[in-house]
Amino acid sequence: MRIGFIGLGNMGFPMARRLIGDNRDVVAFDTNSAALERIVALGARAASSVREVADRAETIMVSLPTPAASLEVSIGAAGVIEGSRVKRYIDLSTIGSQTAVLIHDALAERSIAAIDSPVSGGVGGAEKGALAVMVSCPRNEFESIRTVLEAIGRPFYVGDKPGSAQTMKLANNILAANVLVATAEVVVMGVKAGLDPDVMIEVLNAGSGATSASRDKFPRAILPRTFDYGFATGLMVKDVRLYLKEAKTLGVPVELAEMVGKLWEFTATDQGSDSDFTSVIKPFEKAAGVIVGRPPSN
Ligand code: NAD
Repeated sequence: MRIGFIGLGNMGFPMARRLIGDNRDVVAFDTNSAALERIVALGARAASSVREVADRAETIMVSLPTPAASLEVSIGAAGVIEGSRVKRYIDLSTIGSQTAVLIHDALAERSIAAIDSPVSGGVGGAEKGALAVMVSCPRNEFESIRTVLEAIGRPFYVGDKPGSAQTMKLANNILAANVLVATAEVVVMGVKAGLDPDVMIEVLNAGSGATSASRDKFPRAILPRTFDYGFATGLMVKDVRLYLKEAKTLGVPVELAEMVGKLWEFTATDQGSDSDFTSVIKPFEKAAGVIVGRPPSN
């Protein structure tokens, strides 16, 4: 199966590389020519536009930064929808269920299957092919692309309701957003009290306070102060906003999500939207007058 791949950023590049490693014929496009060249150097074939990808491949995967980018690439005037060969559109981005439904409905009019397929596990998970891949689409479409998805991670069939995989992804991400902020807050407290942050993280990971932040984000990007986990603060803000929009539409309680959302909005203002999301600890450090971790030794 030839795969078209659009959006070769932090996540798209390692996912496309896994597909090439799985002997898939990959036709790629990115508006950033450096990103495109990087994947072509590994064996992908370059396309010069979204439309060209959709003229050359039946199955198209995209990993794009915003709901607006997914809308433009899928159903925009020069989007996948205009392609002559495309039969299925797999969106690996986090776009929220409302956008996923819009895309599904427009593509259905041209008999193109929309496969909603957001992922979790970060750049590390993408590199190892160990992502959690949440999928909503008709069951037969899921079975037809299962082996493709297995090259990038573990596929979970969420259901056939358009957008439901996005709902699952937003539930996952609001929890990840909560625990990173919560872990940052308590580690700053401990360091201010004189605890060693390395010891704190070891104890948390052996005890009941372990979180995805203490297990992964702190050791990888906060304690060594590299702040290079590979997920932008602006993307976290996008995901929290999408969660709040969806939860408010459903009329469910959002007290905690709103409070955590304010901390992420503040981090984007204080550290910049392009900062790595592990920078969320820096406003806590500033307020407490401490630094957590130490620079890597040369
Ligand atoms: P990124 O900004 O690193 O990559 C996005 C890529 O899309 C860039 O290379 C950009 O040039 C390209 N692009 C943007 N508009 C385009 C267009 N119109 N046509 C073609 N290419 C276009 O973002 P990322 O961190 O890789 O995230 C991608 C998606 O995956 C987001 O929805 C994000 O929320 C989600 N996600 C990210 C992570 C992570 O850890 N980075 C984890 C899980 C999910």
